[in-house]
Amino acid sequence: MFPPRSAKAAWTQRIAWATDRAKVADDNWVRAAAAAAANNGSGDGAGTTTSSSSPPPPTPIVHPGVNNTKYVLMPVDKQRVDATDARAPPAMSGSYINYDLAPHALKKIVADAEATRSAAAAKAEAEAEASSALELELEPEAKPAEAKPKPPTGAELPTPRALRGLREGDVELSFLGTGSSAPAKYRNVSGIFLDVPSRGCMFLDAGEGTFGQLNRLYGAAGADARLRRLKMIWISHVHADHHVGVPTLLAERRARMIASGIENPPPLVVVGPPALRRYLLAYEQVQPLCYHFVACHEVREDRWAAAAANADADAADARRFPSLGFYEERSLNLVRAACEEMGLARVVSAPVVHCAQSYAVSVEAKPREKELVVESENAPAEKAADVVPGWKLVYSGDTRPCESLTRLATDATVLVHEATFENDMDEDAIKKRHSTTRDAVRTGVEARAYRTILTHFSQRYPKIPVLDESVSERTAVAFDMMRVDFARDLPRLPSLVPAVQAVFLDPEEVFGGGGNNTAAANKKKKWGPPPRGGSKSPPRR
Ligand SMILES: [Zn+2]
Ligand SMILES: [Zn+2]
Repeated sequence: MFPPRSAKAAWTQRIAWATDRAKVADDNWVRAAAAAAANNGSGDGAGTTTSSSSPPPPTPIVHPGVNNTKYVLMPVDKQRVDATDARAPPAMSGSYINYDLAPHALKKIVADAEATRSAAAAKAEAEAEASSALELELEPEAKPAEAKPKPPTGAELPTPRALRGLREGDVELSFLGTGSSAPAKYRNVSGIFLDVPSRGCMFLDAGEGTFGQLNRLYGAAGADARLRRLKMIWISHVHADHHVGVPTLLAERRARMIASGIENPPPLVVVGPPALRRYLLAYEQVQPLCYHFVACHEVREDRWAAAAANADADAADARRFPSLGFYEERSLNLVRAACEEMGLARVVSAPVVHCAQSYAVSVEAKPREKELVVESENAPAEKAADVVPGWKLVYSGDTRPCESLTRLATDATVLVHEATFENDMDEDAIKKRHSTTRDAVRTGVEARAYRTILTHFSQRYPKIPVLDESVSERTAVAFDMMRVDFARDLPRLPSLVPAVQAVFLDPEEVFGGGGNNTAAANKKKKWGPPPRGGSKSPPRR
């Protein structure tokens, strides 16, 4: 029997053994083991006693930087990306849904809301016509300058002229993802799809899974067709929930075009923050994508204005001195060409308050002449004056409320605005540079947008966000797979909000007050069929 050896001696032997192995095998893993053994051995002896005649015990393999033995899972209440504090999202269950609500009661809620809205719209229309019918007919350009005395309210507006000439199927806006941060069960991350079926289509943001959502919404054949006539992808900023889906869309589009016999598919215009270009360049090392990149700042309002002012001179210069300003001229021209194909006048980016290089966008359709819309009229003298303005879609990206967004969204037909947090979470909204529901609604009201569609909800509201009395009569809530036909659905969209609120119960009632995680959970929330469009005028500030 050999006397037991000291721990120090045992570890010295281990080091010698492992070092020897490292020399022979030249293996990284074994060298790491030697280093680990050396570290452990310098301590006060975790080694077991061994006899000197037996070979040293095999040294545990330790990969530097990876802890294979202790893996602490993140506590459930902190798993949401947005939940940096300990607020747990409410447990979702079937009881969250109001199963007692009969279908006929649901229909009645929608019908009542729509009747109220129609009456408000008719009243607004009558007022507008009474005050300026003559000017509208004769001098449409004079209207914006004279229509400012009243402070903006959230009350219903008359149907915009831009919508009156549209027919069902002309323009459709689809929501492929309406959640923030990370994909969840009911809401995928941001993805908005604008389709002008006769001309082309474009994406406004494309988070992870956007291609999959496109297939779910339109079916494989429908998604194929739409990818083939895709004209542009516009990305607001380089947070993963807004741009990670772009490479898949580009690669799938390219593959489909090649499969259909187009040998060299035309590059797709991708407008985004400069950082997106680096991401796409890196991705292209792995998979061909086929795109032209244009930075968001190259399609800002001032660039469009300068291009319009200097159109002739720039074109002449570009011909004579191709190297002067070639890139910028080319970038704007690429976007202009894509717009032309889609029947759009402009796609304008505006900086907003979120992370670096964050933008909002305005997509503006071309004005149409009246004879295309109203066929019965045949007065040649009025043709020039009878131009119907094009619709205008504005998307906020992620942002705090800001002047540049309000300016961009002025008189928009549709403002799609992020509303990450409920109204009680102002602090979180400021900290993370997002908007609350109230912020989003207020921006829509101040910009006199005809419809404000809320989206980008924190995943703590998996089914419906918390809506209170701050929601105006012109506001709607987006859901994944929601399709909005401009002519058919846009006017009546807000009438669906009371029905949605009636379907989903107040989690505070269901879970006894502690459910919905808010900083002021004991504050009274207005759920259920709300007092909208009726007696109470919603507060604006
Ligand atoms: Zn986001
Ligand atoms: Zn963001």
